[in-house]
Amino acid sequence: MNHETQHRLASKVLALSGILQSTLEINELLALFAKEIRQFVQYDGLTYHFPSLKIDIRLGEQPANSCAYELVVAGDHLGDLNFFRNYPFEPSELEIIENLLAGLLYPLRNTLLYQRAVESASIDPLTGVRNRAAMDSTMKREIGLALRHKTPLSVILMDIDRFKSINDQYGHLYGDQALKAAAQCAEQSIRESDMIFRYGGEEFLILLTGTSLEGAELLAERIRENIESMPPQTDKEITMTVSLGVTSLIESDDVSSLFQRMDSALYRAKDSGRNCVVVDRTDD
Ligand code: GH3
Ligand code: MG
Ligand code: MG
Repeated sequence: MNHETQHRLASKVLALSGILQSTLEINELLALFAKEIRQFVQYDGLTYHFPSLKIDIRLGEQPANSCAYELVVAGDHLGDLNFFRNYPFEPSELEIIENLLAGLLYPLRNTLLYQRAVESASIDPLTGVRNRAAMDSTMKREIGLALRHKTPLSVILMDIDRFKSINDQYGHLYGDQALKAAAQCAEQSIRESDMIFRYGGEEFLILLTGTSLEGAELLAERIRENIESMPPQTDKEITMTVSLGVTSLIESDDVSSLFQRMDSALYRAKDSGRNCVVVDRTDD
């Protein structure tokens, strides 16, 4: 490393924490860091993984040569960072990268703490699925995206049948357990890319992005069957059933018109005897 590079690097390391502290958004943080590194070392892309928050970021290309870092600060694992290019990294370049990484660690740790706090604020403590606040913001965002990109989006509203009488007969503690079991059974019935939210008391909304009405109907039926055949939560021999309303986004929709159709499909399912799926087939 020549003297001038050494000098530039020293002042960059000093400035880096300040630059990186301007954001708590993980994608933005890594993009900023990537830009700063590029002033010293050429590379084609980088990846960053932090599995416990399901963070998996890829920037640029990933050709054959890489250098990999497991980021740790005071015993805290902060994920894995890899740099890629199509010819080997020199030891002097690795030294530069390592110097700059020191400036990333504390801003990265703050960002991960923040992301974890945001995540836990969006979880319903009883059932472990996403809560109403998360539902409102996610639905607004996903509906906007689906309308703009003209991609399919379907929703399922699920409501436990005669849940009040389950509480009345077996007590609220059992009711809580049964509610949790129903939410988890529904969650295990859907794909990783689908999302389930607790909408209200014993009602759950399942958001299926990229899924047509037919796909959503099949899934709703599978959830209905899975919950009906769930083993009882205690030695009490009771079965639980759910009714489900299904609909898909149409071009003229907004959040409230989509919800109205989903709601009325659920009402029809209740009216037609419960433990069934009703699909709203409104066309544009
Ligand atoms: P339906 O088949 O028409 O849906 O009948 P239902 O009894 O399920 O409907 P209703 O909406 O009248 O009652 C829902 C009940 O769910 C009322 C309330 O006692 C119960 N409930 C809501 N949230 C919770 C909860 O967090 N824990 C427990 N144990 N019960 C809850
Ligand atoms: Mg109910
Ligand atoms: Mg209800």
